Amino acid sequence: MQVYDKIYIGGEWVEPDGTGTIDVVSAHTEQVIGTVPDASPADMDRAVTAARTAFDDGPWPRMTPVDRAEGIKRLSGALQARSQDLADTISAENGSPKSWSLMGQVFSATMVLDAYANFASSYGWEDRRQGALGSPVLVRRAPVGVAAGILPWNVPLFIAALKLGPAMAAGCPIVLKPAPETPLDGYLLAEAVAEADLPPGAVNVVASGRETGEHLVRHPGIDKVSFTGSTAVGRHIGEICGSMLKRVTLELGGKSAAIVLDDANLDEATLGNLVMSGLMNNGQVCGAQSRVLVSKARYAEVVEALGAAVGALKVGDPLDEAVQVGPLVAERQRTRVEGFLDAGKAAGARAVVGGGRPADQATGWYIEPTVFADVSNDMKIAREEIFGPVLSVIPYGDEREAIAIANDSDYGLCGSVWTADAEHGAAVAAQVRTGVVAINSSMILDFNAPFGGFKQSGLGRELGPEGIDPYTEYQSIILPAS
Ligand code: NAP
Ligand code: MG
Repeated sequence: MQVYDKIYIGGEWVEPDGTGTIDVVSAHTEQVIGTVPDASPADMDRAVTAARTAFDDGPWPRMTPVDRAEGIKRLSGALQARSQDLADTISAENGSPKSWSLMGQVFSATMVLDAYANFASSYGWEDRRQGALGSPVLVRRAPVGVAAGILPWNVPLFIAALKLGPAMAAGCPIVLKPAPETPLDGYLLAEAVAEADLPPGAVNVVASGRETGEHLVRHPGIDKVSFTGSTAVGRHIGEICGSMLKRVTLELGGKSAAIVLDDANLDEATLGNLVMSGLMNNGQVCGAQSRVLVSKARYAEVVEALGAAVGALKVGDPLDEAVQVGPLVAERQRTRVEGFLDAGKAAGARAVVGGGRPADQATGWYIEPTVFADVSNDMKIAREEIFGPVLSVIPYGDEREAIAIANDSDYGLCGSVWTADAEHGAAVAAQVRTGVVAINSSMILDFNAPFGGFKQSGLGRELGPEGIDPYTEYQSIILPAS
């Protein structure tokens, strides 16, 4: 049992205002594995005040970006020292397979922080230019102010790093709110922050439920909100921020397509990558390529190969390093995914493998890794984000139709093209209306390049040096003419 009774605010471990607690339940054992305070709006007020003081009066926004980069590196180091503990904690919280957890949950987070330590020194913080009216102008990127980071449960530490890296580089104090399913890794993060010796209030970590989270979003002391989670909640948060003219970044859901072109060489390794592009983290990633588009000419062959590969995945305890697919995060999430399985079958899709609960798991919120064939793009399973280990294989006629199907979605986050001709693959990728497209790869993002959605998948970008932009405001200082 990991029991925490304090909250990390203003560089200190403080007593919570109320007595509410959040129980964290293992996705595999269904037992309570930890308890943390359920922060109240008064706790959130204290966190915003600490961050506000750090911004208005503290050294953090006044330090050079290069000095702040040292703080980012110290945080990355403190997290790396806890990497096993973090990976085990996250796997227990949300069912992420340990085999994926270390890289996808922890090292990817520290790599993002390391990337932002570098971007901090090379980013264009200032540009001195000749003005049009005779005076020189200094165009600065000023920090946007105090930020709030609202985190989901699926890749909690990594998504925290997507907010921390650019906020810290820009000198914006931040209040992070972990999701109630995954606050324990947030406590390990807070311990690492404490060890990184940052100015008080630069980073605050306050786990809470929905009402207190919305209190944070609405708080007049917050200048910028960065949210990752569902499109429904993102739209709501966007409305609040719009009405208050707060800056907002929204990283939301997806229904991405893997386009398998006719010349694709689907050897065992490539097929494994294709499967992982849809099923990584048990299918609980926003960039999951849950629609696999295959031409009618190769349909039967690819469906059979995908069925065999997915059927061979090892399902079970996420802490077992041989396991490739763990349980879903919560019972309500399994119920939701079962609703999609029923909808797929009712609409005439054929479960080639999977389609239900595995028989051999006594506890845990498991769903069998599933491949649906004979899916058409108008079915519910092809339109809505399932967030579970379910692939839908959709047939297409020619390449033009493949691109049209990929684009026939409310979402626009990720995608991939599988082909023997990488140059042609890139030309196809350019016609896909999504924020990231990979060629012959299961990567849904690269730390050095912007990541984010077209259409209902979000607003704004994270990652790359461009990820710093939303934590800044342009300020033009018109200098005296010489
Ligand atoms: P969610 O409801 O969007 O929650 C994400 C985060 O936002 C959580 O910390 C949540 O806390 C918080 N939140 C919810 N309503 C809020 C509000 N009004 N004001 C401030 N914060 C608020 O996601 P979920 O319930 O965990 O999962 C539901 C579905 O979202 C999934 O099935 C999946 O489709 C999608 N999802 C997408 C991503 C992604 O990366 N795109 C990540 C996670 C989930 P509370 O839980 O306390 O409300
Ligand atoms: Mg939730």
